[in-house]
Amino acid sequence: MVEIISGTAMAATITDSLREEVSLFAGEHGYPPTLAVVLVGDDPASQIYVRRKIGQCAKIGLRSIEHRFSRDLSEADLLGLIARLNEDPEVHGILVQLPLPAHIDSHMILDAINPLKDVDGFHPVNVGRLSIGNRGLLPCTPMGCMMLLESLVVDFRGKKAVVIGKSNIVGKPVALLLLERECTVTVTHRYTENLPEIVRTADILVVAAGSPGLVRGDWVKPGAIVIDVGINRTIDGDGRPKIVGDVAFEEMDHAGAVTPVPGGVGPMTIACLLVNTVKAATTLNSHCEPISLVDG
Ligand code: NAD
Repeated sequence: MVEIISGTAMAATITDSLREEVSLFAGEHGYPPTLAVVLVGDDPASQIYVRRKIGQCAKIGLRSIEHRFSRDLSEADLLGLIARLNEDPEVHGILVQLPLPAHIDSHMILDAINPLKDVDGFHPVNVGRLSIGNRGLLPCTPMGCMMLLESLVVDFRGKKAVVIGKSNIVGKPVALLLLERECTVTVTHRYTENLPEIVRTADILVVAAGSPGLVRGDWVKPGAIVIDVGINRTIDGDGRPKIVGDVAFEEMDHAGAVTPVPGGVGPMTIACLLVNTVKAATTLNSHCEPISLVDG
């Protein structure tokens, strides 16, 4: 019988466990760990994600400060805001909600964030650290995937892991984290040939393609652990909007374990953002010298 891995339950446990750390920090410094959230434009999905992140911060006493702008905000003005947030000693985490409008170069914006405040783990310094196995701030979704896997896998060494998707925010960092744990990792993408055959070799399968129901039951080896990162908005048989993953969930009876969508990786991503914010606050306050852009 397949085990359904509840990301909702694990995220609640992680979030609860941060409460005390948050209150100790606030007692010591006079203000709680603080996350600045930057939202440009009115993308409906981004609005939902930002609302959820801010709601979870409030639950454990983390302070979040919202910076909302219309979609015509200039790149220069956004860079100016990032510079001010970098300098502000009472801001510990900076989250720029993606996607940004097309006239703003997202890479330039993410590169401008102080790596010590980069709670999304997207800054090249943190990406570089991840690639050499020297952990800075990890990207939240891959970190959440690993926590879910760690609750099930006793020994990662030599396990065959297949990752579907090679994006910078999910596929590549998940692959690096699995490699770090000594898995034998295969990264696949939309041009990979014989994808079902490759997937059938997986003891651990992480799917981040953005393609509803892509992974069918007969692609999955009996006993495999399946982490479904996909979030796809579809319409159900009664015409109602529905969120589904990249895995045909109802065909996974023979898998060892599978994450549901919703209620799997999604809540873990937010929990990991809170973990990173508390970690950033602690790290920043343990630095006596002024915070430089490149942590030396
Ligand atoms: P992306 O579009 O940047 O990358 C998708 C990757 O999947 C690409 O490498 C592409 O080559 C590959 N791909 C697409 N279709 C494929 C196919 N048919 N076969 C094989 N490979 C295929 O997407 P992303 O940002 O990595 O996000 C992937 C999915 O994960 C999306 O549904 C997104 O909404 C979801 N997501 C969820 C969370 C979360 O917190 N749960 C976080 C980030 C992304």
